[in-house]
Amino acid sequence: MPVEECSPAIVLRTRDYSESDRIVTLLTLYAGKLGGIAKGAKQSRRRFERKLEVFSHVMVYFKRRPHGELVFITRAEAGDLPPFDLTDDLGKIAIGSYMVELADALSREEAESAGAYRILAASLGAVARHGASRALRQAFELNLLRWAGYQLEFQRCQICARAPAENATSFVFIPSHGGIVCQHCRAGQTDTFVGLSAPSVAALAQLNSMPVEAASGAQGAGRDAEAALARFMATILDRKLRSVDFLHRFM
Ligand SMILES: [Zn+2]
Repeated sequence: MPVEECSPAIVLRTRDYSESDRIVTLLTLYAGKLGGIAKGAKQSRRRFERKLEVFSHVMVYFKRRPHGELVFITRAEAGDLPPFDLTDDLGKIAIGSYMVELADALSREEAESAGAYRILAASLGAVARHGASRALRQAFELNLLRWAGYQLEFQRCQICARAPAENATSFVFIPSHGGIVCQHCRAGQTDTFVGLSAPSVAALAQLNSMPVEAASGAQGAGRDAEAALARFMATILDRKLRSVDFLHRFM
């Protein structure tokens, strides 16, 4: 008999499977990203003390199946995990939806994902407490990209490694180089780029070294930075995120 395992987890996606069952995708602290089936999830308040819906923060109990991709989810409890209450504000729902979709897109099943779980938990907690902000969105993107192996660079030219001149007023971000490139090195580059203002580069450099918990009160970078990060993500993701258009209505 498979043993029961448990882990803190955040629900990324759900779909109804039958009258009473639900299939859920979870980002867990100890077991990576998991797909599971929760029998009776829509009826049993006893076994599913905390509902399995997107954004739910649960202590999930499950058993692996010998020949199945989906685990059996036996229980979901609140434990001492803080809930992420985003439902009082559409802007919170929009940024939260974007965060879970990006975390889903950058993580794989069967792979370690404790870092992604921690970043997502801290970010959804900050959204619930402080609301949506551009700085929080950008800090989340930069932290999650770093976790996924993409360390973007905004302090030095990615080609000559020099820090930009003090009086530089404009920069270019080249997605294929994963960071800014100085005006000197830019000559001769044919890869696509996005122009960035000096204040946006300074804000991105700061957000890039900041935990998401600290970002709510920080200065966000401008629309140019949003375009640069979006362009970079388009080069590594195989699809457009559905939540982006919804998010654009709020920020
Ligand atoms: Zn350079």
